[in-house]
Amino acid sequence: MKIAQVYINQLNIHLDRLFDYLVPKHLESQVIPGSRVVVPFGFGNKSIDALVWDLKSPPSDSSKLKSILGVVEHFPVLDHQQLKTCRFLQQVHHSLFMDVANAFYPGPIQIRKHKDSNGVLRYYVGQKDRESWLWKISQRNPNQTLEQLLSTVRSNATVQREILTLLWESPIEEAVLTARFRGVKKTLESLRSAGFLEKHRMKSMELEDPGPLEVQGAPRLTEAQQQILEDFEKGFQQTHLIHGVTGSGKTEVYLHMMEAALKKDKTCLYLVPEISLTPQTIHRVKARFGQEIAVIHSRISDGERLEQYKKIATKEIRIIVGARSAILSPFQDLGLIVIDEEHENTYKSSNRPRFDTVSLAQEIARLHGAKVVLGSATPSIGTYYLAKNGQYGFHRLPDRMNGQDMPASLVVDMRVELQSGNRSFLSRTLYASMREALKRKEQIILFLNKRGYFSYVFCRDCGYVVKCKQCDVTMTYHGEDNRLECHYCKATAPVQHQCPACGSRKMKYSGTGTERMQNMLQKYFPHATVLRMDTDSMKKKDAIADAVEDFTLGKADILLGTQMVTKGFDFENVTLVGVLLADLTLNFPDYRSSERTFQLITQVAGRAGRGNKKGNVVIQTYEPDHYAITHAQQHDYEGFYEKEVAYRKMNRYPPFSTLMYIGFSGNDEKEVAKECSEYHRLLSAEVTKTDPSLVFEAYPPSKSNIVRVNNKYRYYILIKTEHVDAFQEAIHHVQRSKETKQFKSTIFVDVNPNF
Ligand code: ADP
Ligand code: ZN
Ligand code: ZN
Repeated sequence: MKIAQVYINQLNIHLDRLFDYLVPKHLESQVIPGSRVVVPFGFGNKSIDALVWDLKSPPSDSSKLKSILGVVEHFPVLDHQQLKTCRFLQQVHHSLFMDVANAFYPGPIQIRKHKDSNGVLRYYVGQKDRESWLWKISQRNPNQTLEQLLSTVRSNATVQREILTLLWESPIEEAVLTARFRGVKKTLESLRSAGFLEKHRMKSMELEDPGPLEVQGAPRLTEAQQQILEDFEKGFQQTHLIHGVTGSGKTEVYLHMMEAALKKDKTCLYLVPEISLTPQTIHRVKARFGQEIAVIHSRISDGERLEQYKKIATKEIRIIVGARSAILSPFQDLGLIVIDEEHENTYKSSNRPRFDTVSLAQEIARLHGAKVVLGSATPSIGTYYLAKNGQYGFHRLPDRMNGQDMPASLVVDMRVELQSGNRSFLSRTLYASMREALKRKEQIILFLNKRGYFSYVFCRDCGYVVKCKQCDVTMTYHGEDNRLECHYCKATAPVQHQCPACGSRKMKYSGTGTERMQNMLQKYFPHATVLRMDTDSMKKKDAIADAVEDFTLGKADILLGTQMVTKGFDFENVTLVGVLLADLTLNFPDYRSSERTFQLITQVAGRAGRGNKKGNVVIQTYEPDHYAITHAQQHDYEGFYEKEVAYRKMNRYPPFSTLMYIGFSGNDEKEVAKECSEYHRLLSAEVTKTDPSLVFEAYPPSKSNIVRVNNKYRYYILIKTEHVDAFQEAIHHVQRSKETKQFKSTIFVDVNPNF
């Protein structure tokens, strides 16, 4: 008889430990670490699913133990390495084990049971189909206009009218609607039974396939590329950095590294920051290797995800391309992990488990004896620091493959513009350059680093500001569909024309940053077509792909957008890039704001002059002497790095320390605040007990910037320390202390969070 040690699949801190169960004889071959089983639990012996962590021999008296009832799947859902990875994540983030484990296996899953012909209870998994519906206007009266349609709806049914107006433009996915309007499902169904709307089942989203697939041979590597491959092969380091501007041939190097790993019968993982923005990369990988690859991202259905998961687990697929979550796959014989654009903040997960992809990749690579390759034109300061100090293999590709120079950049001091009477958002220089470019029939990209700039609604008489009812946040006005939205909880509200505070009718509305900018641009350049790209205008399926296609075909002259426009697009005819206000990121309250600004400017500047024409960049700013701006202008990463690393060192910011963020949230503000302080006290005592000489700064318990979100109050403790292991240890103890276990607040621990 064997004993299985299992984790009960319940997210409860009191159950976050191993429970012992007897393994009945007939299940012995199937109950192994990583299998999912059903066990009787609690007073009522309710059957509940659990995950097997390990097996052990029974103690001398095992008569009190209960037996496992059945096995859910016939294969272990998590393999040996994944179980270890779960443990690693559990320890770093102080999460519940099952909370981490559930993130690995595709869900949601439903366990069903039936009696077989012998009357034995058997368990199996029913894939709960996450159904996806597309809503559209009913086709009954094809000649009807929107006005006619609306005239049949009650005039005070605001949400109904709003939905009909939105759907009139184009069909919308149910998930998008439910994210926008609270409790919309009922409204949709009632509109359907009244004959206004119809719904269609959607197939899961396929990524845009950019054309027929032809297996393409590899080009001959340049000497520099060849050298990198050799050094990589010989290098003793686990992690390697390739520092090279966009177009310098990094991807080609990754592909060769993958080829070498595949030849050794290894599996390869290729990570990109955001899959919908990189269709070319997927195509390139497919075309190069001509074998089935798994493409993993948030928009595939659970069924597809499970299918890919199984194929990876059985090594039927050995090439995986994906966004952050692909790192949780059941790799067999992993040989290589490529992380392209490693500096992107999408690699840091802000949901549970809050992992950092690069550190997690290194841990997984260690378990498999694999290597990690990081690539970027603007590596994160931490990465570059380790590469320069020899902890990472360090490789450079300084030149663009096509021998093109980097674009010429100009910095415009907006203070001078203002002093000389120009109050507009366009400097004279940028305006003139735009006119020139338009005259030459060339295209322009304008980058405004914030959606929701100038976006709130206020009363010009008393200053009243419209705030979200559930969050302490001003609501953002969206001119396109004429409503207010809370960017934190997605609640919406109709526009108000009368001030609820003083009754004045002078409520001032203006569109979001990019949206308003689009209108202004249209006034300056009435003959130009302006295309806007931000998360508002790109909500619909394929919107990005369509926009990219339109711009490539020259259907628009100016592409205006948020960070989205800085990504890897390659438009031949773009010769001018304008950064409208570089200061927006510079003044963000985060120690990485300079790094972020440098990266964004460099990236967007790289969009100019990709074809044979020379590119120009105009950077508008109120701080023209800031080192992030001056070095970005000169395309001088090294110079920027030196300044930034000195600043970090002086202030003991990462990589010279680790920031640990302990967040608390709950329904009762007083209670959350009290528990946060209590935790702080326990932690300080614990740290002093372990090692009184530890150097650290623990900021006192504080309110979050926005204290209330979704009616939950949020407090936090921030710790800056050079002794992260000792702190992890102390947090571990506090987390499991009897005081903390009584807390009502939800607590989470994040390491070097994105602020
Ligand atoms: P990066 O990943 O740094 O942006 P890529 O690998 O995409 O750079 O290379 C830029 C362009 O140069 C691509 O069109 C690629 O096909 C081409 N290229 C890269 N390496 C070679 C090579 N050795 N010979 C010919 N063309 C190459
Ligand atoms: Zn007022
Ligand atoms: Zn809100």
